[in-house]
Amino acid sequence: MDKNQSILQNESQYLADATRINYFDIVIDHGQGATVTDADGKTYLDLLASASATNTGHSHPKVVEAITKQAQKLIQYTPAYFSNTATAKLVDRLASIAPGDFEKEVAFGNSGSDANDAIIKFARAYTKRPYVVSFTGAYHGSTFGSMSMSAVSLNMTRKMGPLLPGMVKVPYPDQHQRRTGESDDEFSERMFEQFRLPFETYLPADEVALVEIEAIQGDGGIVKAPQRYMDLVYDFTRQHGIVFAVDEVNQGLGRTGKMWSIDNFGIAPDLIAVGKSIASGLPLSAVIGRKEIMESLDAPANVYTTAGNPVAAAAALATLDVIEEEKLADRSHQLGIKARKFFEDAAKKYNFIGDVRLYGFNGGIDIVDADGRPDVKATTKLIYRIYELGAIMISLRGSTLRFQPPLVMTDAQLDQSLAIIDQAFSELAAGKL
Ligand code: PLP
Repeated sequence: MDKNQSILQNESQYLADATRINYFDIVIDHGQGATVTDADGKTYLDLLASASATNTGHSHPKVVEAITKQAQKLIQYTPAYFSNTATAKLVDRLASIAPGDFEKEVAFGNSGSDANDAIIKFARAYTKRPYVVSFTGAYHGSTFGSMSMSAVSLNMTRKMGPLLPGMVKVPYPDQHQRRTGESDDEFSERMFEQFRLPFETYLPADEVALVEIEAIQGDGGIVKAPQRYMDLVYDFTRQHGIVFAVDEVNQGLGRTGKMWSIDNFGIAPDLIAVGKSIASGLPLSAVIGRKEIMESLDAPANVYTTAGNPVAAAAALATLDVIEEEKLADRSHQLGIKARKFFEDAAKKYNFIGDVRLYGFNGGIDIVDADGRPDVKATTKLIYRIYELGAIMISLRGSTLRFQPPLVMTDAQLDQSLAIIDQAFSELAAGKL
């Protein structure tokens, strides 16, 4: 059986184990760049970047300075009633850098989850249609709207149901579903047939408000949709007047080697959701998109008192400066090339390494057993050993190593990180773990 097929067949076991992420227990005291130090004074290389929320590294001096200055000036005034200089500046900046040559609006929130809820609201208000289409393997957040669009782990939705009605899932074109020898285009067209199936059987396209996708799935395993598939889905939304939204919360802001993950596809979505690294990890999120869509929602329908908070806005402006000045998207690309070579070479050497996917400094490395099935136990052992050796890492879906270090990691720190991972790999291969 081919490795990828067997991963799919074991999906339910795989998902049931997905939230076993507390492999070790540390209390972080402080962080600097690509390292964090725990309360006992032990320093670790951070291979997770706080779940891709610190692309600019921990406590970047420019971000800290901006936060300090803004906190001395104004900590909070709710943008629900009055704007403030930092937040107003951020609106203009985000509108100018988001993909798409059209007039844009920006709506703030406090988390990636509420940004995705807002996208559902905007799309429904604009189209006056009820249904929402999203993808298997997606993670859009844990508020009810965003959770109802997600489909990555049973443990996230268990005891929470029923979720929002009208949320339809179609299969994401996950590498693991690719048949042996199938080209990108063949795979895309076969998966697009599956996308269309609901529309041909029970879901009238003119009742669908929104299609939301992660151009590269994060929690789903760092899985990238092929270009042709994305084009076909995008064109379908154009033909049927459906809002097309991309979730950039995990994969945006330089992570994939481009500013936005959707820049890898040359498509300008109607709406994007941004969060996590936007303010170097301070609570801030935004929906950025077509003005006419965002103006269709009456103001009180998407208000949080602290959304667009001035300190978070100042942090976001400094974060965007750092991403630009330090060319972090290019840096992500360069670091990713080196990391990819390491993991691909390792996959040739060790048969417990299955599929290796890196898009920028952003990797998912499947760990499999002798039959090619997801191996949660081996993954757990690896992660624990990597921790003992001085680097922190977690898994996605239980058996995929998640490799998303801060984009400011130095070459020396990357070499050190890869040496640690290599040691853990060789010890696992030698039966020492
Ligand atoms: N969207 C994506 C793609 C994510 O990866 C996440 C978080 O992991 C979210 C949304 C939710 O963001 P938050 O945890 O800030 O609510």
